[in-house]
Amino acid sequence: MNTREPFDTYRSKLSSGEETCEARVGAYLSVLAERQTLNAFLCVFGSEAHEQARAIDVKIAAGTAGPLAGMVMAVKDVLCMKGTITTCGSKILEHHEAVYDAAVIEKLRDADAVIIGKTNMDEFAMGSSNENSAYGPVKHPLDETRVPGGSSGGSCVAVAAGMATTSLGSDTGGSIRQPAGLCGIVGMKPTYGRVSRYGLVAYASSFDQIGPFAQTVRDCARVLQVIAGHDERDSTSARVPVPDYLAAITGSVDGVKIGVPKEYFNDALSAEIRRALETKIVILEAHGAEIIEVSLPHSEYTIAAYYILATAEASSNLARFDGARYGFRADGAKDLTEMYTKSRSEGFGAEVKRRIMLGTYVLSAGYYDAYYKKAQRVRRLIQNDFFEAFTKVDCLLTPISPTTAFKLGEKMSDPLQMYLSDIYTVSANLAGIPGISVPAGVDAQGLPIGLQLLGKQFDESTLLNIADFLERTHS
Ligand code: GLN
Repeated sequence: MNTREPFDTYRSKLSSGEETCEARVGAYLSVLAERQTLNAFLCVFGSEAHEQARAIDVKIAAGTAGPLAGMVMAVKDVLCMKGTITTCGSKILEHHEAVYDAAVIEKLRDADAVIIGKTNMDEFAMGSSNENSAYGPVKHPLDETRVPGGSSGGSCVAVAAGMATTSLGSDTGGSIRQPAGLCGIVGMKPTYGRVSRYGLVAYASSFDQIGPFAQTVRDCARVLQVIAGHDERDSTSARVPVPDYLAAITGSVDGVKIGVPKEYFNDALSAEIRRALETKIVILEAHGAEIIEVSLPHSEYTIAAYYILATAEASSNLARFDGARYGFRADGAKDLTEMYTKSRSEGFGAEVKRRIMLGTYVLSAGYYDAYYKKAQRVRRLIQNDFFEAFTKVDCLLTPISPTTAFKLGEKMSDPLQMYLSDIYTVSANLAGIPGISVPAGVDAQGLPIGLQLLGKQFDESTLLNIADFLERTHS
């Protein structure tokens, strides 16, 4: 069985009875066992998945199955699933058992998806390479000496290596789009507010969004269809109607206006990636799309604004992990203050501590105006740049990462270098707009190159349509 086959391809085999969901689960579990060195999963629900699949096969035969019946999914370990351990890739939550289901988990179950396991990730979703997990790094499926990208590396690799049909990740500054790009699959960050964050452990609440990884754009659209929509348990979830995403995929880009922001094709970008994107631009133009150069003048401030605001929010969100309420508590403390200090010092990893310190600093009384407040203002300017561009074009086409997958360890000693690999992705989270990552070829070493499309708020449809076109049209 080809476990990298898209759901769209094998769906008909399920309804005709030629294949079963249970057999699919079996096939994914064997790839998972064969490729354990990738370190993509933190926990696997083998027997539960088999049991669920059997029940779904009965529903398929009876014609009563939900829209995702037959889809086997992996979910990032930052999503709460009742009765299962939710670690967020951190030692501080090593034994933390979730007491309720995240909204997206409920929705997947209602749609008859099978959840096969929870995936490895950078600790509290902080990272760009998936080397910050307390449970070891995730490896790139094509070259295990390289990073798969982060922070949703496990969810990405689960799909890229054929261990699940699709998966869920979270994207605060690129954590879905960036690994998808480095591993050559599709990954989407929906508009802020499109998908409920209820049950998503918060990193930076005004940036975080949950989204799908998939082999194809159509599969991505199917998952988004199920997880999108208003939820009263998340006060930032939007009351915007959810369109039919598959119906939005028309196969044509004729007349679509696509903006190319000149600041994103800067010196940081590898020449091979630039060439791959230029090839795609030529194809789009040949099929009737109008390509327009646009400017996002505040682009040079995106990394600084993002790392000030995201760390500020993180320092506040992570205050709850104090040794008293959740998970890990250090031994041997003499009093309460020492218990807090020891638990946090021993429970958090280096990158998380670095960010708590930075975030606390930019929020502190003497520095709030100079850093936090200033960064909020810059955030608005960056958002305005996008709104201005979207008065002229329907979407933007950009790179995802400045380079293809880099070596494990290459950027670990220099956090600033690591942060710079997010240069093309964090702006979408600052502006709250949707973005999708779609494969755009390979470099000379055969490593995947990703292309990013950014859209207007709540206009995931346009992105899915163009991404689908790019996926299927090679000349
Ligand atoms: N690399 C970025 C960071 O470390 C984004 C992470 C994410 O999207 N979760 O903050």
